[in-house]
Amino acid sequence: MPDLDYLVIAPHPDDAELGVGGTILLLKAQGARVGILDLTDGEPTPHGSPEIRRRETDAATAILGLDWRGILGLPNRSLVADLAARHRLAGVLRELRPRVLFAPYWEDAHPDHVAASDLVDAARFWAKLTKSDLPGQPHYPERIIYYFSVHLRIQPLPSFVLDVTVHQEAKMRAIACYHSQFIAGRPTTPPTLLDDLRDRARYWGWAIGAGFGEPFLTREVVGLRNLRDLL
Ligand SMILES: [Zn+2]
Repeated sequence: MPDLDYLVIAPHPDDAELGVGGTILLLKAQGARVGILDLTDGEPTPHGSPEIRRRETDAATAILGLDWRGILGLPNRSLVADLAARHRLAGVLRELRPRVLFAPYWEDAHPDHVAASDLVDAARFWAKLTKSDLPGQPHYPERIIYYFSVHLRIQPLPSFVLDVTVHQEAKMRAIACYHSQFIAGRPTTPPTLLDDLRDRARYWGWAIGAGFGEPFLTREVVGLRNLRDLL
């Protein structure tokens, strides 16, 4: 397993693309080592199968240019932030040693997303424990940044928005790889689900005076080294 700078933890394959796709492309363009850990395989769904989902995930992974992608194998639809899941995730964090974690925003209609958010918080803490039976060496990711891949029509105020304008088209191509989730069986008259996603990215871009943006939230204060990159 490679040491990573950034690890996106997703309840299901496609959540990372939805919430962090543009940022992943931006980080990769800047030379960072970026990975995604999908907690479940996302199945069953109405138009998917484990094989279809694996093919779709591989195609999206290639577009994002990830350094690593793994699946933790926790149960889809029944994800629980219990001690066994915390142990498994903390072990992976100690192997990959990311500096920054991306976790799903904690308020959601989907119980898997709520559980995933809790699980990342708890596993981050466990990963630093000494005198434990966890694999690898103690490691504490410096930050958790929460992303929005939310099944509620809510708009929490983000802590910051990243300008992903130059990567927006590639992000949409990565999302469109998940045909079974976002295209199959859905209305084809505009606005389609993909139109909605693009429009919301445009809204956040507008909010920061840019083309397209991805919003993020942190519980801890974000520090800046300089003001040059402010939009
Ligand atoms: Zn999901």
